[in-house]
Amino acid sequence: QAKNTGKNTACLFDPSMQKAAEKKLQRESQIRYAMVQNQFELHYQPQILNPSRVTSVEALIRWQHPDEGWISPADFIPVCEESGLILELGEWVVDTACQQLAAWSFDKSKAHLIVAINISAKQFHQKDFANQVIKTVERTGAPAEKLELELTESLVVQDINDVASKMDELREYGIRFSLDDFGTGYSSLAYLKRLPFNQLKIDKSFVQDILNDESDLEIAKMIVALAQTMNLEVIAEGVETWPQARALADIGCHRYQGFLFARPISAEKITDTIAGLNQSVKP
Ligand code: C2E
Ligand code: MG
Ligand code: MG
Ligand code: MG
Repeated sequence: QAKNTGKNTACLFDPSMQKAAEKKLQRESQIRYAMVQNQFELHYQPQILNPSRVTSVEALIRWQHPDEGWISPADFIPVCEESGLILELGEWVVDTACQQLAAWSFDKSKAHLIVAINISAKQFHQKDFANQVIKTVERTGAPAEKLELELTESLVVQDINDVASKMDELREYGIRFSLDDFGTGYSSLAYLKRLPFNQLKIDKSFVQDILNDESDLEIAKMIVALAQTMNLEVIAEGVETWPQARALADIGCHRYQGFLFARPISAEKITDTIAGLNQSVKP
């Protein structure tokens, strides 16, 4: 039908598109309100070094909506990215994670923990991003060498020179970098070589089927080999079963994150969870 009307007017009257647009606008205003009302929280998912050490945690944002209950970041992060709200929300995430890191640095049982936070493309590509992060680290007193930024491949392939200079500045300051969802994007080896990453994260899509799909196993092997060649750490995300963890150990991957070990949990529960994991984990 749209073809027959000439121009693009048809989509203005497409009720499903209008509904989607309305829903997005509604989400945006809900998100703005939620920021003011402090409805966001950071949860932390332990990362395990084989056989039993919790070395780090990934901060994952959680939204407790008064009527809708928990809303998934997969739902609202894309809306934030499109609308630009991610800049404010992202700043809140960096600030909150740094405050937590500073608090843990005085606590013997948690002072060793690295805290990884997810950085979205728009947030990273802000002109003063590096400066913002460094200022927040200084203001909160967080130990810079315990802060890790997770970037995705799609982020790093935009404007390599700018990405490299920001990363170099932050790296020099002590901050670590991890390449999230590795294997799903389009980054080249030349990029990887040029950028100061500390770690690759094997995407959970490869982990899920590692036991049944030969090509997923081969990809995971390649990522581990690549990490070894480039002297990077490697971690598998989305590990849900012991056979998956063992398959990963067999190909030389000794760091894991996944529901098998722990779900993302509130900061208050982290002490007990870590103590439990340190005793029980034996892939
Ligand atoms: P991600 O950074 O790749 O985070 C890992 C996701 O996998 C998390 O989903 C985590 O809960 C989930 N996960 C962990 N272990 C398992 C497992 O064993 N099985 C399965 N099926 N899933 C597992 P979550 O928390 O829903 O977050 C989804 C995505 O939203 C994140 O993917 C990240 O891209 C984004 N995100 C979350 N928090 C933030 C944030 O603070 N800032 C930004 N910019 N993005 C965020
Ligand atoms: Mg991540
Ligand atoms: Mg990931
Ligand atoms: Mg992922």
